[in-house]
Amino acid sequence: MIIAVASGKGGTGKTTVASSLALVAAEKGEVLFLDCDVEEPNGHIMLKPRWHKKETVRVPVPEINREKCTLCGRCAEVCAFHALVVLPREVMLFPTMCHGCGGCWHLCPAGAISPGWREIGQVEEGSSGKIGFVHGRLNVGEAISPPLIQAVKERIRPGILNIIDAPPGTSCPVIRAVRGADFCLLVTEPTPFGLHDLKLAYEMAARLGVPCGVAVNRSDGNDNLIRQFCHNNNVPLLFRLPRDREVAGGYARGIPAVEVRPGWKKHFLDLLAYLEKGGYARCAN
Ligand code: SF4
Ligand code: SF4
Repeated sequence: MIIAVASGKGGTGKTTVASSLALVAAEKGEVLFLDCDVEEPNGHIMLKPRWHKKETVRVPVPEINREKCTLCGRCAEVCAFHALVVLPREVMLFPTMCHGCGGCWHLCPAGAISPGWREIGQVEEGSSGKIGFVHGRLNVGEAISPPLIQAVKERIRPGILNIIDAPPGTSCPVIRAVRGADFCLLVTEPTPFGLHDLKLAYEMAARLGVPCGVAVNRSDGNDNLIRQFCHNNNVPLLFRLPRDREVAGGYARGIPAVEVRPGWKKHFLDLLAYLEKGGYARCAN
């Protein structure tokens, strides 16, 4: 089973929830934690894996043969990402804007472009007790993260529980992380900003056809905004974690929430039982 833990914005406690879920699930069986927040992976701070393996991830990028190039301009026309500019004496490539689509080398009339490779980051694999651990680390300044997220997801292991810690937001990297999951847990805060971003995240999951449920983090007891949204959209509000200074302090020191508050394990056990039953509905639209 694949569970994605996502949120419409950063700072809602997504990693707090995902890492605690992994620790509780590991008491029952084998778990793989996949940190797809490749721009800022921090699941390892909570779960402290021992690393076993590291692999470089590369994407295709054009290599231009200046001797063959006629400066015709065709490659710049076909590049939808404006990664190529044809100047009077040379073709300039902006590698971080290239999506590796191959359009330029397929359509260059002079056969002057061939595919090369560009490194965008690394995938590291390890384990923490019974939890297998994978994360991606995007190179500093790199803009193209979906291929690295895909490389992390290629490590998904069938037959066990896979927990994906998705990037925040609702853009391409999040979609790449959540697509194909069996369930998406949307973590939010009980504020108007939290509700706004929850709506976006819910729409994203619904469009991907991934069933979802909501977890409220830092609840102050007044969760009416979120409760109403869940009710109106027929989305289960699965659990609420209260605002807790000790948990926040633990997070800052790399201590998972369920280690600071063992009583919170119940929420995650209930979630696992809910998922095991498989009774969750598809998203409303
Ligand atoms: S399409 Fe080929 S020949 Fe034309 S400018 Fe680009 S590299 Fe040069
Ligand atoms: S491979 Fe695609 S994205 Fe990259 S420069 Fe060529 S046309 Fe543009």
